[in-house]
Amino acid sequence: MEIIQNYIDGALITSKSGNVMPTEEPATGSEYASLPVSEPSDIDVAVIAAKKAFQGWAGLSSADRSQWLLKIAQAIEDDRDRWASAESKDTGKPLALARSLDIPRAVANFRFFANAVLHTASQAHHTSPTILNYTNRNPIGIVGCISPWNLPLYLLSWKIAPALATGNCVIAKPSEITPMTAHMLSQLCIEIGLPPGVLNIVHGPGDPTGQAIVDHPDITAISFTGGTQTGRNIASNAAPLFKKLSLEMGGKNPNIVFQDCDFEDALKHTIRSGFANQGQICLCGSRVFVQQEIYQRFKKALVDQVGWLKPADPADAETKMGAIISKEHLQKIESYIALAKHEGGKIIVGGERIQVKGRCQHGYFMQPTIIEGLHHNCRTNQEEIFGPVITLAPFKYEQEVIEWSNSVEYGLSASIWTKNLSRAHRVASLLKNGVVWVNCWLIRDLRTPFGGMKQSGVGREGGEEALRFFTKAQNVCIQL
Ligand code: NAD
Repeated sequence: MEIIQNYIDGALITSKSGNVMPTEEPATGSEYASLPVSEPSDIDVAVIAAKKAFQGWAGLSSADRSQWLLKIAQAIEDDRDRWASAESKDTGKPLALARSLDIPRAVANFRFFANAVLHTASQAHHTSPTILNYTNRNPIGIVGCISPWNLPLYLLSWKIAPALATGNCVIAKPSEITPMTAHMLSQLCIEIGLPPGVLNIVHGPGDPTGQAIVDHPDITAISFTGGTQTGRNIASNAAPLFKKLSLEMGGKNPNIVFQDCDFEDALKHTIRSGFANQGQICLCGSRVFVQQEIYQRFKKALVDQVGWLKPADPADAETKMGAIISKEHLQKIESYIALAKHEGGKIIVGGERIQVKGRCQHGYFMQPTIIEGLHHNCRTNQEEIFGPVITLAPFKYEQEVIEWSNSVEYGLSASIWTKNLSRAHRVASLLKNGVVWVNCWLIRDLRTPFGGMKQSGVGREGGEEALRFFTKAQNVCIQL
């Protein structure tokens, strides 16, 4: 068993209580590491360390902080295969995906924000020839970053990179289900000599660890990514303390295929957006609407190709579909398939868990699943399943598909497939989603604002938005 520890004040330490919990490899179902169950007293120690470090860190020039982030990025990149293997083992995602997506994007996050802070400018407003206003953007102080299991290092770095770049000290909590790459980041920070207390990584479950971060009076901003119900709990706990909050939450994203699309391209990316990371990406297109003129042809091609997609050992470099994150999550997905049948849905591909032979025989694997025949208002089409399950439905008119797309409480992302430029602009503007992709999926430019509408998010991260979130604006007005 590998032993994961908290990284506090520049050192790896156990939790005060000594309590630990196991973490497992989803592909084999076996426990392979233990992590601390951190409690409020551990958060107190981390906050004391962060406070001690704050003046020194905030007092550095942006260029110096930038150098630290670049060092982290370089060290991960130099050893990317080891990081990708660790991420794949911890999450069950295909090694190929960790290599092509998770690790490169984590490196990109550190690099991007290392560079972004060198190119920001504060505003000045000349009210009259004798009155000058300018805006200071100072670090907030100690900030909390809480992240989920589906893209562990990628989403952790998405938060801590801008937080550190802008001069804050950070208390970060990765998901208790996937703590390994965060632990490796702790080791890396020790190796490169990052000043103690600047970044503190504490491990443990939502309750008590995450909760203690949210409740701590000296942690004055929280950046959270995870489920909508957790976000709701965090918001209700943080609101009376008037904390600054950024909440990135769940999704139930539409994938709209118009009859005038590039058929092969739409098909290829519908499969990708439905089943990448076993459907466990908040941006996955889980509701597929296809215009009736091409519905039968699209359905046939989709069924044929998805039928070939076989979950296998994630450690095999050829594997395209890996394991589901946990036994509990697999059961949750199965319960939604049962619900879909109950609601009148027809399973046209998959629908069953499967056993992968050899070392993965006790792992958590699920067939890619396509369900047809459901009303857009049923629970299967309204609730986030977060697994390799898509629903397929024909539509006739642009207006109805916009209405169906917007009929859920979520509003994270959407994809539109059409060659008609006017339609693309028109539909994009009417969709209530924070990100709309036209003829593509999952392309990210880190300068763009990222976040969800409705119950998918509060606030925006990415680019300038993240730099603003992690700083507090102060207006200075001078009578010259
Ligand atoms: P989760 O909400 O269960 O957990 C997320 C994090 O919050 C974990 O670190 C967890 O320990 C912590 N947490 C749980 N309860 C807490 C509490 N009361 N106080 C403080 N912290 C608490 O989510 P998950 O199952 O890890 O991730 C899957 C969810 O994340 C899905 O709903 C998915 O859509 C969403 N997600 C959203 C985005 C986005 O950018 N919008 C990205 C990835 C995942």
